[in-house]
Amino acid sequence: MQLMELRRIVCDLHAELPKNNLVAWTSGNISARDPQTGLVVIKPSGVKFPDLRPENMVVVDLDGKIVEGDFKASSDTASHCYIYRQLPQVNGIVHTHSRYATAFAIVGREIPCVTTAMSDEFGGTIPCGGFALIGGEEIGRVVVDTLKDSRSPSCLLQNHGVFAVGKSAEAAVKAAIMTEDNAAIVWTALQLGTPIPIAPADIDRLYDRYQNVYGQ
Ligand SMILES: [Zn+2]
Repeated sequence: MQLMELRRIVCDLHAELPKNNLVAWTSGNISARDPQTGLVVIKPSGVKFPDLRPENMVVVDLDGKIVEGDFKASSDTASHCYIYRQLPQVNGIVHTHSRYATAFAIVGREIPCVTTAMSDEFGGTIPCGGFALIGGEEIGRVVVDTLKDSRSPSCLLQNHGVFAVGKSAEAAVKAAIMTEDNAAIVWTALQLGTPIPIAPADIDRLYDRYQNVYGQ
């Protein structure tokens, strides 16, 4: 069986989605690109999270053609592949309909950068792209267009949900979790009053410190 290690990583990361309350039933998916072969490991379509196993992940090429797998690939596969083809630095993608972030998407509103944590992680607002139908590459096109002028590793899709990307599948999962956390915080603040903006120069300083200095 091909890409066993990456199958295991992608399978294990899927458990983080229900654990962090980012998904309901079978919604949501994760994929990872193997940098050596360019092949993509992605969730099978319509399989419940507790039933996911490394063996039932689907391996596709960059055009979405199944290379190995007994199951149909996720219905978002064509969009994941489009994103990988356009963004060579991306090796992991996560899609969710997480509650607070999707609420912003439903009203077509970006998530403003009003916390230091958001400045650290996203370096600005989490943008919201337009509406796209599911099934083909259309969603991928909106994601690439929406992320291209942004430092944010995630964006919202109008009336739909969240796409997060990263250098690895784990980085993309982190971005999806932080997107929902910040969406919930900003939504809560909006109930209390008007969030106080952070000066763009301070967002830049926070982002630079966190991305380049913070951690071990
Ligand atoms: Zn979706």
